[in-house]
Amino acid sequence: ETFNLVQLADETADMLHMTFQRMIRVHTTNKQDIRLSADKEKIRQLLVILIDNAIKYSKEPIDISLSMHKNVVRFSVADKGIGIPEDEMPYLFERFYRVDGARSRTTGGVGLGLSIAKRIVDLHEGQIDVFSKPEQGTTISIAIPQKK
Ligand code: ATP
Repeated sequence: ETFNLVQLADETADMLHMTFQRMIRVHTTNKQDIRLSADKEKIRQLLVILIDNAIKYSKEPIDISLSMHKNVVRFSVADKGIGIPEDEMPYLFERFYRVDGARSRTTGGVGLGLSIAKRIVDLHEGQIDVFSKPEQGTTISIAIPQKK
């Protein structure tokens, strides 16, 4: 199944903007059309998980960036929120893991989001990376090789 990732990101951003009234910007470097052959509904779910986390753990606008270079599709979701402490990084993708129960209690959630995100990325033989600084924000980047 081949679809336009830019369009999917726009749709997902619009949907979450309407629901949560948060500004979500979509940026693309080269073209308006990034064809990805992947499981569209799983990629949608992946975007929802990452944007939903950005909404929960930040207050400023959220930035989604998309690009394609040499048959690798990359996208990231960036927020300027509370960030993730360095020592928690290794556990983020474990099921039911949540950073510091106290700070997370108010946001709800069970700690499944990122473990599902990781699984979806693995299914596509991709890579997921987390860049984060406490009090500055978090960027989660995904790279998915484009099948030929
Ligand atoms: P849910 O199952 O509803 O997604 P959750 O958000 O707690 O619940 P994960 O998405 O797996 O679970 O995230 C795990 C933990 O990583 C969160 O509890 C949160 O502390 C931290 N985290 C994830 N994304 C961010 C982010 N954008 N900014 C700060 N912390 C984050």
